[in-house]
Amino acid sequence: MENKIDHRNRISTIDKEGGRKWIYAKAPKGFFTNLRNIVAFLLILILVGVPFLKINGNPLFMFNFPDRIFFIFGIVFWPQDLILLLLLFLSGFISIFLFTSLVGRIWCGWACPQTIFMENVFRKIEYFIEGGPSQQKKLNKSSWSFQKIIRKSFKHITFFSIAFCVGNLLLAWIIGVDKLYIIITDPPSKHTTGLTIMLSFAGFFYFIFSWFREQACVLVCPYARLQSVLLDDDSIVVSYDFNRGEDRKSLATRKKEQSPAGSCIDCNQCVVVCPMGIDIRNGIQLECVNCTACIDACENVMQNVSKEKSLIGYTSLNKLKGKGYNFLRNRTYVYSTILIILLGTFSYFLYKRPILELMANRQRGAVYQILPQNKISNHYIIQLFNKSLHNQNFDIKVLSHKDVQIIMPGSKKEISSADAFKSHAIVIFPKQANPSGKLSIEFAVTINNKVIDTFKTNFLVPMK
Ligand code: SF4
Ligand code: SF4
Repeated sequence: MENKIDHRNRISTIDKEGGRKWIYAKAPKGFFTNLRNIVAFLLILILVGVPFLKINGNPLFMFNFPDRIFFIFGIVFWPQDLILLLLLFLSGFISIFLFTSLVGRIWCGWACPQTIFMENVFRKIEYFIEGGPSQQKKLNKSSWSFQKIIRKSFKHITFFSIAFCVGNLLLAWIIGVDKLYIIITDPPSKHTTGLTIMLSFAGFFYFIFSWFREQACVLVCPYARLQSVLLDDDSIVVSYDFNRGEDRKSLATRKKEQSPAGSCIDCNQCVVVCPMGIDIRNGIQLECVNCTACIDACENVMQNVSKEKSLIGYTSLNKLKGKGYNFLRNRTYVYSTILIILLGTFSYFLYKRPILELMANRQRGAVYQILPQNKISNHYIIQLFNKSLHNQNFDIKVLSHKDVQIIMPGSKKEISSADAFKSHAIVIFPKQANPSGKLSIEFAVTINNKVIDTFKTNFLVPMK
């Protein structure tokens, strides 16, 4: 009875007094568990391997927030590409809306790093060191003994070591493996900030996986909060077939009462395997990450009692109500249309994006200089961003005026792939005056005399 009423009033991991209810989930066994193990292994391989992959010397993926440079499939994005990044970000959001409305929290159960590391790494280590749920409970309740100290120390040292690796992995996605290697191999005094971040990440992941666990999905994850608006009665989610299952009765009660009953034998196996501590038979709940553990648990039970399978499975509420599958619906069309528009706009802007982006701004606070031989100069800061996969030899010109001289230090005008170039430049005009005190000037960056990008700004002159 408690399950039927209480799950609407409080979350599964908080008891009536408001304290934390520790979840001792039993290890599930079955088809989906095996499949999820394979998927998790492949995803961990991708997570670990991708930071090492490069295209033309550029990282395949890197999200370097501190230096504000991003690589997606080897394509570099600078802060000037904010619109492109925004379009990509919005496309990601709409894809999540689309996929969630179609197939529920498939991301949470199968691909979210929190679920993968919690269920496929940390919980497995916990089973190995402390045993199954009942042994863990017993160990936690027991007073401190030599054996308990050894087990707990071993577990927490292992947890922290893995959390340290996970933290380094995250750092590799942010700053790249090359910089990470330098931080690791250089004397610690040289990279105090990097090492502090590294240890903070390690501490954070240790806290998440050793203690906070499922609370991250229930209390912190913004995606979980959106479930109630993203799902509808046609979304395919892990569900209990209440038509077949009810009236649930244990095998003992069935024997005693000899009255008709549903397929659910009230064995609670779907509850004891749930890492979120919920009872799927209460219907869709915010806590459910669609991890499929309850499907496997119930499939094994159904097999043992020789009943039809799929009492718990992937299905929609409308299918359970006998209304059939309605896969494509209005929201599917709306989300898909928005997604196509966003991705189309993104592709257009990406295609039109110059391979070299030019910025030429006057040195802040500087005024014009009157030079001998009737000339006048302004001081500029020239910035270039190479967005191509190749090194480029370039030239800087003034398109808007003739008889203009540009003096830049150094003779080598080459920029590496995905690199930025910054230089001072003195621009010299024949001396002249203007009522407004400035001339409109257009710079250009050229490759083999072909204009790649232009930048309009002002050239200060004396007022007439
Ligand atoms: S595992 Fe299946 S049979 Fe057992 S309680 Fe859950 S739904 Fe009922
Ligand atoms: S109810 Fe089932 S699918 Fe949902 S979190 Fe629990 S075990 Fe996983």
